[in-house]
Amino acid sequence: MPTQSWGRINGQEKDSKSLHWRKDAAKLPQWEGHVLPFGLGRSYGDSCLIDGGTLIRMQDLNKLRHFDAATGRLSCEAGLSIADLLKFSVPKGWMIPVTPGTKYVTLGGAIANDVHGKNHHLRGTIGCHILEIELMRSNGEHLLCSLQNEEALFRATIGGLGLTGIILSCTIQLMPIESAWIDAEMIKMKNLEEFFEIDNTSDKDYEYTVAWIDCMATGENRGRGIFIRGNHARGGDIRRDFKKQKGEIIRMPIDAPGFSLNKLSVKAFNFAYYNKQFSKLKMIRQGFDPFFYPLDSVGEWNRIYGKQGFLQYQCIIPTHRTDDLKQLFDVIAKSGQGSFLAVLKRFGTMKSPGLMSFPQPGYTLALDFKNLGNKSAALFAELDKIVLRSGGRLYPAKDALMSALTFQTSYPQWQEFEKFIDPRFTSMFWERVSTRV
Ligand SMILES: Cc1cc2nc3c(=O)[nH]c(=O)nc-3n(C[C@H](O)[C@H](O)[C@H](O)COP(=O)(O)OP(=O)(O)OC[C@H]3O[C@@H](n4cnc5c(N)ncnc54)[C@H](O)[C@@H]3O)c2cc1C
Repeated sequence: MPTQSWGRINGQEKDSKSLHWRKDAAKLPQWEGHVLPFGLGRSYGDSCLIDGGTLIRMQDLNKLRHFDAATGRLSCEAGLSIADLLKFSVPKGWMIPVTPGTKYVTLGGAIANDVHGKNHHLRGTIGCHILEIELMRSNGEHLLCSLQNEEALFRATIGGLGLTGIILSCTIQLMPIESAWIDAEMIKMKNLEEFFEIDNTSDKDYEYTVAWIDCMATGENRGRGIFIRGNHARGGDIRRDFKKQKGEIIRMPIDAPGFSLNKLSVKAFNFAYYNKQFSKLKMIRQGFDPFFYPLDSVGEWNRIYGKQGFLQYQCIIPTHRTDDLKQLFDVIAKSGQGSFLAVLKRFGTMKSPGLMSFPQPGYTLALDFKNLGNKSAALFAELDKIVLRSGGRLYPAKDALMSALTFQTSYPQWQEFEKFIDPRFTSMFWERVSTRV
């Protein structure tokens, strides 16, 4: 069975190996052909897949190595998931400073995509908090990389798409928190103009900000949705309160039939979501799972799109190009292909050490589309043109369709990055986007 990514794209690996101990990686020089590390496969497209080589499964290399409770510095193996890290660190009053919208990702995978979260405006990407990376190259070299040592390779590995070697372990600076609760506010927004207003006034006072948008709404309702902002609560018994939070998981029992998601059902869902909140402002104290990881409560929710899978489109539009952002919404609504709620967030100015890191100052929009083959490709090509014109770019972790031209235009540093790629490492994504144009 080939390995699938989260969007249910098929890899074609010939072989796969699992690492259990860091010393297992010493065999890497003996494995034949091309290789690629694989975390928990939460990348949507093909950046975690390989065509014809060996996939190196990292999830069993997941031990904690060292934790300093006074400083919050934690060293762990790269297959440790954020879910397991939080179970260990939150009761001790320490939080991962940047988390994506799922906790089922490994630290190695998070570094390789230099993931961002709802607090990018304050804390940048995860790469801003990584102090050291232990890297294994296919020639047997075993390196400790940081801003002080092997700096160029350190920068290339953060956001390096798994191509610079195997990350065996890392040291991360955690963030102190007092409580296992989040004080969250949900504000109903009429349109995109209101989003800009609320967003501008929230950045300073809220650790986390994000908006869910009804991408089917048009005209004066364009961009309507719910703005969510929150802060870690203060005080209480963090150990006891975190224990209380038992995230329930409902599983998708079968693949949903292809016809169950159509323009009407999606429109109805988005409308219902927008209207489920009657008041303009709702204030609520939430646990980590509903606040950070609402989608994790439905296990294998990616099956909802049926066997043909789905594609996620995530781009950045620079801050001053709001007309281009509006046009993206219009094209998506007109296509009728956009699915459940879109996520909109403004990235801040904190620069990642990662050479190929995706975030830049601007608005990032992410939404899912059922995979309709050529129809999806035509829509994405139209969206890409707007993104390129604006000076923005697409997120490789979510991508399955970006052309080599789009990639090379929007990541001009890619040729510099190429020098750091381990010659035995490649991915389906990289084969597609690095073709000379
Ligand atoms: C519901 C959901 C919500 C998400 N929300 C966000 C979000 O808010 N922000 C965001 O940035 N991303 C988000 N993502 C994307 C996800 O965070 C990234 O794709 C993440 O990198 C996946 O980690 P993984 O462990 O599953 O790695 P995989 O998907 O298996 O691999 C990702 C990349 O990491 C490389 N890799 C994995 N392990 C190693 C290693 N040990 N050494 C070297 N390279 C390695 C792989 O080769 C590949 O290139 C979301 C995904 C889902 C499914």
